[in-house]
Amino acid sequence: MKCPLCGREAEGELCAYHAAAKGAVEAAYPRWARAFGRIDWKDYLDSVKRNPQTGQWAKEIAEFLRG
Ligand SMILES: [Zn+2]
Repeated sequence: MKCPLCGREAEGELCAYHAAAKGAVEAAYPRWARAFGRIDWKDYLDSVKRNPQTGQWAKEIAEFLRG
C-alpha cells in the first residue's frame, strides 16, 4: 500500500511521515481551540495550511484531512 499523499510505502493509510504529521496536527487542535476560543475543525485545517510556519508534511496532511 502506498501513501496517497507522496507515494511512499505506507504502513497503514499513510506513510510514516504523513502519519506523524497527522498526529501532530490532531494533537495541536485543542491548543488552537483554546487560543482562539472556538475554532471549527475545518477552519483549523485551513489555518494550518495558511500558516507560514507549518511544515510541508503538515500542510499536505491538513489539505488531505480537509477533503
Ligand atoms: Zn506520505
